[in-house]
Amino acid sequence: MTRNRVELALIARGVDSALAEKLRKEKWTLAKLQTQAPEKLLELGIGEVAVPVILGSGRPPIPPEHFIRTLYDNRWLCCVCRDASRPIIVHHIKPWAESRDHSQANLAVLCSIHHGEAHSTHALELTLTPDRLKAAKATWEQEVSRLDPLAILQATQLISCQWWYFNHLRVFEIAEDLGVNVSELEGFQDALLTGACDAQGHLRPRKGPLYVGYALSHALKRYMSSMLEAAMGHASVRNISDDLDRGTLDRLIIEGDLVFVQGLYSFTNLAPDGSGADLVRGRRRVNKVEVTFVFDRNEGTSGSARYEWLLRTRALGCLLRVNGLRKDGKGGLRIEATVLAIRSANQELKLRSYEARLQKSGLLGDEYEDEEFDVGDYDDDVSNEWGERSGTFRRRLFLKGQGIWRKLIARF
Ligand SMILES: [Zn+2]
Ligand SMILES: [Zn+2]
Repeated sequence: MTRNRVELALIARGVDSALAEKLRKEKWTLAKLQTQAPEKLLELGIGEVAVPVILGSGRPPIPPEHFIRTLYDNRWLCCVCRDASRPIIVHHIKPWAESRDHSQANLAVLCSIHHGEAHSTHALELTLTPDRLKAAKATWEQEVSRLDPLAILQATQLISCQWWYFNHLRVFEIAEDLGVNVSELEGFQDALLTGACDAQGHLRPRKGPLYVGYALSHALKRYMSSMLEAAMGHASVRNISDDLDRGTLDRLIIEGDLVFVQGLYSFTNLAPDGSGADLVRGRRRVNKVEVTFVFDRNEGTSGSARYEWLLRTRALGCLLRVNGLRKDGKGGLRIEATVLAIRSANQELKLRSYEARLQKSGLLGDEYEDEEFDVGDYDDDVSNEWGERSGTFRRRLFLKGQGIWRKLIARF
């Protein structure tokens, strides 16, 4: 998964990912390529379709927000073979010349081989028709959208992992909206018996901490865990723990998205508002992105959650609903969110397994080497220093974690 802006600018113009990387390593930039004659670009290996696009005489480049979301939703893999070792290209399902359609619905990620097949015209052979492509893309994107929630849930089932907090009202609302029948959930009967909820599954209002007494706490936590699990089974959650990189993030997420962000959070107490809530502001700041939310610590799922885990600075994973994105004018991005649930951190969720495959494929690597050559759509107000740090960190992580990567790759 490259985040290098030169490579992204080239991929948006129809160059495959391997060639984009090669050109970037040879110190080509979009601006430099644009000063060359078409013959030279062909000589460099750029295809006939991409040459005029690069030179500005063909179709316009794909708008970054469609392009990046398409790549992300397909995990930077060909939707037909999903082979991480092959370079990829962003393809127009209905050719641009006919459709003038740059929307996400008309874009597919293909490897070079299947891209060739999608453009081949020998009618009697098994070629990738637009309909077959659309079907392959839909199947793969649906699988992908389930990968993150599954990983988050599976990791929760490990003994060392715990939900420390639920936003009870919001989780209940989301479950209801998604058509989850709460009375059939595991833990519902016990929650009802212990008086934690009523016959409709609604929580009984309570002043002060919600989780008091062993039987009630235990029942309520099981009820809420299964409610969240059921809701997440229907919803699409993006794990963006490793994407707090404002170069692409503001094009990747929009208001209303459910995201999972893991890392160090700091908590500060807020002044009481008279409602009896124990209001806390949670904040995660990394690179130039700040994620922030306010919640009621009384909804912490145990004494240790309230007095130990949701205090000061902690490594945690938060399931969030994005309420708004704001740029601060200094190159920073602020994400206001509603927190739905908070759990202990889990290493595997930080190092997303699909990224491991991309590391292996070489698509994710030393992408920040020549940031000073940034050009095109991707160079707006991005500073070098954080990119550099993040790139170095990734490389170090990669070298250090080869063993883990291999294990993750084998499991994927
Ligand atoms: Zn393929
Ligand atoms: Zn194509």
